[in-house]
Amino acid sequence: MPWKGEKNPYLVWLSEIILQQTRVEQGWPYFERFREKYPKVEDLADAPEDEVMKLWEGLGYYSRARNLHFTAKYIAKEFKGVFPKTYEEILSLKGVGPYTASAIASFAYGLPHAVVDGNVYRVLSRCFGIDTPIDSTKGKKEFNQLADELLNRKKPGEYNQAIIDFGATHCMPKNPMCGDCELQAICVAFKEGKQGVLPVKEKKIKKRTRYFQYLIVESPDGLLLHKRVEKDIWQNLYEFPVQETEKILETSELIEEDLFLALAPGGKELLQAVSRPFQQMLSHQKIIAVFWEISLSKTPDYDKEKYLLVERENLSKFAFPKIIDRYLQDKSLYLKMI
Ligand code: SF4
Repeated sequence: MPWKGEKNPYLVWLSEIILQQTRVEQGWPYFERFREKYPKVEDLADAPEDEVMKLWEGLGYYSRARNLHFTAKYIAKEFKGVFPKTYEEILSLKGVGPYTASAIASFAYGLPHAVVDGNVYRVLSRCFGIDTPIDSTKGKKEFNQLADELLNRKKPGEYNQAIIDFGATHCMPKNPMCGDCELQAICVAFKEGKQGVLPVKEKKIKKRTRYFQYLIVESPDGLLLHKRVEKDIWQNLYEFPVQETEKILETSELIEEDLFLALAPGGKELLQAVSRPFQQMLSHQKIIAVFWEISLSKTPDYDKEKYLLVERENLSKFAFPKIIDRYLQDKSLYLKMI
């Protein structure tokens, strides 16, 4: 992995933000891309936001990209481009929590701060047989204390990396490699056969299902796009005009919707096709989207503050949520429509 052994705090930070809620294989090419395009924190600070969002496209949890950009600008301005050096200063950065601060402090500066991520929770709860829920206040305190006691203070960076790697590659969530484990003799979960129940989590996330009806409104002048600026999912990404509904609609229902009436006043005969339902799982929401293709002989009278008209060949310059990207790829719409 390209960030292994990295001592440059900017690159450690970059890799840690990318790896939050992302698998290594998925984050790897994004890290390479960001490192190449923005080798220094000032380069990232000077980049236009749309460019950063486009480079992040497909990685999900877009607040990370916004915080990354905000923090780069903050470091460039407040710290004159020099990455902060103390744990407290690092922790004060937007988008940086105790785990990321510990990782940067220990990997880049060799400071004695234990990292506690999902891998560490798993290894410690199994080895020590701790069933306190890891997502409870009590659990977080207990595991953090234990991790701090176990930390090798002479080599905190190497120790942290080792326990994370051990959890990721040996003591995995499913099918841990117990038969071939150095820690067998002291591992409570192994002795008591509790690998499948440890670590314990208290809360089960209940996902909300949302239905999006996207209107692909195309005229000879181009397609309508909208930038999501509200405090909701996918902030600062682009999408087609959308109507959120309670369920997937029938054609007869769609043509009664306000958005359809506003953008396709000519009626049902303008509908060219409807896609299959596309689905995207987010941490707290399940999104189901259907794409309705509407062909117009001239551009409708649209709200210029809300929408922008984009030529089809320029679509690939915009950062879209994954669900729209999948639809575009399915249709090869980046190249040709309907
Ligand atoms: S014995 Fe199994 S559960 Fe225990 S630390 Fe090793 S791999 Fe993990």
